[in-house]
Amino acid sequence: MTQKKIGIILILIVLTPALFYTAYEINTLGENELIVNQIFEQQLDAILFSINQEAWNVSKNWADRINYFLTKDYENLDENLQQVIEKTGAINAIFLSDSLGQVQRYIIDPAMARDELPLADDLNLLLNQNPNIIKLLFRRSKTGYLKLESLPIVFNAGKNKAIVLLFVAERPSGEKFIAGMLINTSNFVSRVLIPKITQINTERLRVGIFETATDKQVNTETEFPEGAVHDKRKIWLFPEYYIAIRLEGQSIEELAQWRFYRSLVLIFFIDLIILIGVWIIYRNIRAEMRLTQMKADFVSNVSHELRTPLSLIRMFAETLELNRVQTENKKKEYYQIIGQESERLTHLINNILDFSKIEAGKKQYHKEIFDLNEVIKDVLRLYAFHLQNKGFHLQNEINPAEKLKINADKDAITEAIINLIDNAVKYSNEDKRLRIKSGLFQDAVYFEVEDHGIGIGIDDQKKIFDKFYRVSTGLVHDVKGTGLGLSLIKYIMEMHNGRVSVESHLGKGSTFRLIFPKER
Ligand code: ADP
Repeated sequence: MTQKKIGIILILIVLTPALFYTAYEINTLGENELIVNQIFEQQLDAILFSINQEAWNVSKNWADRINYFLTKDYENLDENLQQVIEKTGAINAIFLSDSLGQVQRYIIDPAMARDELPLADDLNLLLNQNPNIIKLLFRRSKTGYLKLESLPIVFNAGKNKAIVLLFVAERPSGEKFIAGMLINTSNFVSRVLIPKITQINTERLRVGIFETATDKQVNTETEFPEGAVHDKRKIWLFPEYYIAIRLEGQSIEELAQWRFYRSLVLIFFIDLIILIGVWIIYRNIRAEMRLTQMKADFVSNVSHELRTPLSLIRMFAETLELNRVQTENKKKEYYQIIGQESERLTHLINNILDFSKIEAGKKQYHKEIFDLNEVIKDVLRLYAFHLQNKGFHLQNEINPAEKLKINADKDAITEAIINLIDNAVKYSNEDKRLRIKSGLFQDAVYFEVEDHGIGIGIDDQKKIFDKFYRVSTGLVHDVKGTGLGLSLIKYIMEMHNGRVSVESHLGKGSTFRLIFPKER
């Protein structure tokens, strides 16, 4: 399977679900926030509802008490109602009127001035002006359900205003009254509603009571700033007031928005991690596949590399054995070929053995101090003829007088130099010029081989030092090799605190350089 295919399959397997999930999440995020917002709004509604309910419950409780005294203690009704007025602290007066709407009893808060209260006639007028409400109250009372109706009343020649809560009261005899509680609304707010609101108020949520006509806040201890009202409702029983909710700090929309963005960032972050994960997996697979491919090539290359010199050696040895060679010169030439090919074999086997020792962690170097120029000279002595034979022109820029002392393993360094010269020969075409140079540069000793061969592309220059790696394009394809030489050189140089570098241009040639720390 090609790497591209694997990449695509990986993306399909891992990334597609992730992308679908992301799209889905982004889609539902907004919905989720909307739901959260809705739930929150409903809760705010419930709070407002509960305050309204509280006002109603308390009022109903008072009406129940009045009803109780009508039924159980009619004789002392006036005193009992007086007590109700005192205890509640929010009722200014209680009256009972007959079914025709005529006030029969009128019990007032003795602390009140007379002109602060409506006259019995004012009440009669109010009842007569609202026959529908009276009818409704009576009808409801038949169901056994206590209904409260609130009516505003204006009196004292229009100077005073109040609220009357009306309900139907009944004697055990079946006699029915329209009962009314004249409510002191500001007392009602301060005694009944504000304690309830104080319970509800939290750091984040404040409830306020406002006058409908003026928008003035009544519970001033938690004052609302201008324009911060989030939701408001009229108070059922006292429409001249409304309750409103304010949120401290971030609004729920801001909060939802913030959560939305945070989730979005989180999702993208997770996607990014998945993406990086996929990329790493893909890279690993790709590297593994390459290595597998390179190992397979290595086996076939090594077999070829071993067979070629062996068959040459056998052929020339047999020819010599059968005494078929006529001239001494030819004989010498054959012996030389056998020698060279054995040399090549030894070199190849050395590389493979070195490599397997390094892989097994068993490679050891025996370092000694020597002159690098000496080793180069030894190698050249062996190789000069070989190079000449192959038509190479060697430009030797080594200064034998110069002492290049290094502390190294002689065999390993010899292998490294041979490998470099070998490569220069292998990867040259018609231009068979080689230049060999050594010397001192700052605190380093260097050795370099320059060829005018096929060169190496920039991308490949980084990879050629990897084990088994061989440039697989163009001419190189025809040249056999194991892909081990440069990786061995790199390892050897690292083990000697040195390094190997390359400068190369495709089609123009390469210069490989070994750099050692100088020994003093
Ligand atoms: P091998 O020569 O056995 O293939 P090496 O490790 O010595 O293995 O080299 C790795 C690869 O680097 C070679 O296959 C070749 O593509 C490239 N290479 C090495 N030396 C040269 C050079 N002097 N000129 C061009 N290419 C080179």
